[in-house]
Amino acid sequence: MAEASRTTEARRDAVFGRWVVFSPARSRRPTDLKSHNPTNPSPAAGEPRPSCPFCAGRESECAPQIFRVPPDGSLPWRIRVIENLYPALRRDLEPPPAAAPDAEEEEEPGERAVPGFGFHDVVIETPSHDVRLWDLPAEGVRDVLLAYAARVRQLAEHPAVKYVQVFKNHGASAGASMAHSHSQMLGTPFVPPSVTSRLNCMKEVFDRSGNCSLCDFRSKDILISETPNFSAIVPFAASYPFEIWIIPRQHLSYFHEIDQHKALDLGSLLKTMLQKLSKQLNDPPFNFMIHSAPFGLSSSCLPYAHWFLQIVPQLSVIGGFELGSGCYINPVFPEDAAKILRELSCST
Ligand code: AMP
Ligand code: ZN
Ligand code: ZN
Repeated sequence: MAEASRTTEARRDAVFGRWVVFSPARSRRPTDLKSHNPTNPSPAAGEPRPSCPFCAGRESECAPQIFRVPPDGSLPWRIRVIENLYPALRRDLEPPPAAAPDAEEEEEPGERAVPGFGFHDVVIETPSHDVRLWDLPAEGVRDVLLAYAARVRQLAEHPAVKYVQVFKNHGASAGASMAHSHSQMLGTPFVPPSVTSRLNCMKEVFDRSGNCSLCDFRSKDILISETPNFSAIVPFAASYPFEIWIIPRQHLSYFHEIDQHKALDLGSLLKTMLQKLSKQLNDPPFNFMIHSAPFGLSSSCLPYAHWFLQIVPQLSVIGGFELGSGCYINPVFPEDAAKILRELSCST
C-alpha cells in the first residue's frame, strides 16, 4: 500500500506479543523523520581524548581486563573486554544458591530480595576514540561479535548465571555515558521478565501453528536485506520507527554458538544497517540488544527459541501512554520504513 493511503492500524507481533498502534497522522512523511540529537562526534582527530579511559594508552584507568583481541600482549589491542568500574550487578557478592537439578523452576510469587550478584562487563570495540562500530571493516565488526560470544560462553559456565543480555547504547539519549564506541553485557542470576514473556509468546505461536515466529516472518515487504545466513527486516509490528531486526535464517536458539563464518556475515549486515540508519536518520542515538535463549533451556523449548538482534533508533521520548499501557505508537508503517532502508545505498 502506498505511504499516503495508509490508515491507522493496531498490530500485535508474534515474538513479544505486544500491541503497537500505527498512526501515520502522528508524524510528517517517514522520509522526513530525523534525529534532533545526532550523536556524531566531532570530526575524527585520531588522538586519544584526555578524559577517556577507553582510549588506547589509558588502560590503567579502567577496571580489570578480562581478555583482549589479539591475546598476544606484544601486539596493540583492537578490542578489550573489561569489568565495568561501576557495575549494576557485582561479581564479588554471594551468588544465590543453585537449585537442585530436579527442583521445580517455578518460584514463590510475591516480593523477594536477594544480593545483587551478577556480572557487568564492557566491550571496548576499538582503541580509537572517534571510530564508530560501523566505521570498522566487516571483519572488525565480526571480531566484536565474536568477543561478545566468547564472553557469553565464559559466563554460561557459571552455575548461577541464567542469562546474559548483550547490548549497546549509542548517544546520550540512548543511555550512553561514554562517547568511545563500546557495548556491554550483564549476566544475571535470574531470567529477565521480558525473556520469559518472549519465550512464552513464541511457545503459544508454536503450539498453535507448529511454526517458529522468526522462521516464519510473513512478507517480503518488510525485508531490507538478506545475506546467506541472516535477514534484516523491519518487524511486522515494530514498536519504534525504523526499528530493525537481524534474524538468523537458520533456526538457532543461542547467539553465543555463532561461528567465524556466520559472525562475518552478521558483521557485514550489522555494519550496513547501522550505516543506513545513520544516513537516513541523521546519526540517531540508538540501542541494540541481542535476544538469545536462557542457559540450560530444556530441549522441548528449543524449537521455538530463535535468537535475533534488535536495533532501536531513539527518535522520540516515551510518554505516558507507552508507560501506562506497554503499547507503543509508531508513526511509520514497517513496510514504508523497510522500503526506504532497502532503497538507500550505502558505501561499504
Ligand atoms: P554507557 O553508560 O552505556 O555509555 O556505558 C559505559 C559504561 O562504562 C558504564 O556502565 C560505566 O559504568 C562504564 N565505565 C565508565 N568508566 C569506566 C572505566 N574507567 N572502566 C570500566 N568501566 C567504565
Ligand atoms: Zn576514547
Ligand atoms: Zn526459528
